[in-house]
Amino acid sequence: LEREGELGGAMAAAAELHFLVVPLIAQGHIIPMVEVARLIAARGARATVVTTPVNAARNRAVVEGARREGLAVELAEIAFPGPEFGVPEGLENMDQLVDVDRDMYLSLQRAIWAMAAPLEAYVRALPRRPDCLVADYCNPWTAPVCDRLGIVRIVMPCPSAYFLLATHSLTKHGVYGRVAGELEPYEVPDFPVRAVVNTATFRRFLQWPGLEEEERDATEAEHTADGFVINTFRDIEGVFIDGYAAALGRRTWAIGPTCAAANADADARASRGNRADVDVGRILSWLDARPPASVLYISFGSISHLAAKQVIELARGVEASGWPFVWAIKEAKATTAAAAAVREWLDGEGYEERVKDRGLLVRGWAPQVSILSHPATGGFLTHCGWNATLEAISHGVPALTWPTILDQFSSERLLVDVLGVGVRSGVTAPSMYLPAEAEGVQVTSADVEKAVAELMDGAARRARARELAAKARVAMEEGGSSHADMTDMIRYVSELAAKKRHERDAQLNSLT
Ligand code: UDP
Repeated sequence: LEREGELGGAMAAAAELHFLVVPLIAQGHIIPMVEVARLIAARGARATVVTTPVNAARNRAVVEGARREGLAVELAEIAFPGPEFGVPEGLENMDQLVDVDRDMYLSLQRAIWAMAAPLEAYVRALPRRPDCLVADYCNPWTAPVCDRLGIVRIVMPCPSAYFLLATHSLTKHGVYGRVAGELEPYEVPDFPVRAVVNTATFRRFLQWPGLEEEERDATEAEHTADGFVINTFRDIEGVFIDGYAAALGRRTWAIGPTCAAANADADARASRGNRADVDVGRILSWLDARPPASVLYISFGSISHLAAKQVIELARGVEASGWPFVWAIKEAKATTAAAAAVREWLDGEGYEERVKDRGLLVRGWAPQVSILSHPATGGFLTHCGWNATLEAISHGVPALTWPTILDQFSSERLLVDVLGVGVRSGVTAPSMYLPAEAEGVQVTSADVEKAVAELMDGAARRARARELAAKARVAMEEGGSSHADMTDMIRYVSELAAKKRHERDAQLNSLT
């Protein structure tokens, strides 16, 4: 009874609240943050995802699906100031940055920072001031906006707690400043597990030449946040979550895996993040015809592109493995020279025809959670983006780990070394650190063949993956740790927002 009273109280507290959710304009951020909005709305609050027109269009089906389920989730559009910074009209997502130069990336970041003005104008025009803004870690420009408007600001960093704690420790102990080169090995200090890493594979988001100011803003906004929500759960990352919360000295709630909150409605789920470049029914019936846990799903997420030679090695390796596979091969869709070379090879070889009894290529965006949740899917060759990592874990699918950049190398360690649900492909660093003669190849077709066999045959690993999936489900259900953390976050925001409202009223009264 007491527990029911508690939950009832939490729902009542939530009913009055309006959250804004402001993700970085990248698939790996928007997708989980739309799901956070959904989770908040499932507690009776209102949640509005504020993003740019291109991204709003991509996520409309998912949001509409949530609304059909009776949840108060909305999308609000603010104009993207890209063109003012030389970014072409319509380029509003990191996944559109294929084959552009570094200057364009920096211009895009400057344009993102300039979203502060349209965001503030949008909030000021609302009939009632929202209570809380859930800000992407990569959107620290929201901090002064929240300060001016008197709104609670909860920061959502999109990587794992493992990565957050490791990079925090490396920064705090001045390790980055001491090392001679990007590939010099060193041990992460003050870390719950032994991890020998290097700067090429373990650097903070925004820790790049040319983004020093943006990186400073992000670190400052991290230290002044009213709290953090992290897309993870205690059973896989408890020590890292606690370590990060203690290091930052701020409230930290582990509220994931958010993919467990993907739409119940199958059609809406199939367009999660973007419309699929394939007939979803065709994929599902193709999977229906395969035995349980027999299919390897291959995807490198939304941003990472392999060199053409590496794609070819991979293609030959999976073909030789003999296992059925679905491959989200976005290299076959992009407009780059590398993509053209991939297409030319695929067509010249008659590859698709040759493997048609067991291989399905999706040239572009695949309905990833629909594929991973199918019982025929038994392995995931993944670039280890944090969302992909959580999606593998939540669906009980063991991973063949192939990190390419950023926090992907830390997710590989978590999957393989900490959780025991992964097999390494053998990649050691982002391919830009390879000698030019390698032409982007780190994993040969023979390596692929061997790793796929090890992954697909590994019964003990698969059993462990299934145990974790069961734990993920429990964490998100009533009584589970992530469910409880979400309840606590909403209660905390409710109290803090009331305090901020009183402060605003007092300020107004003193002016009149
Ligand atoms: N995704 C998808 N279809 C694709 C590629 C990616 O649905 O063809 C989704 C994937 O399920 C994940 C997100 O896009 O939720 C990508 O995030 P992640 O952190 O895995 O990688 P990133 O794209 O940020 O490198």
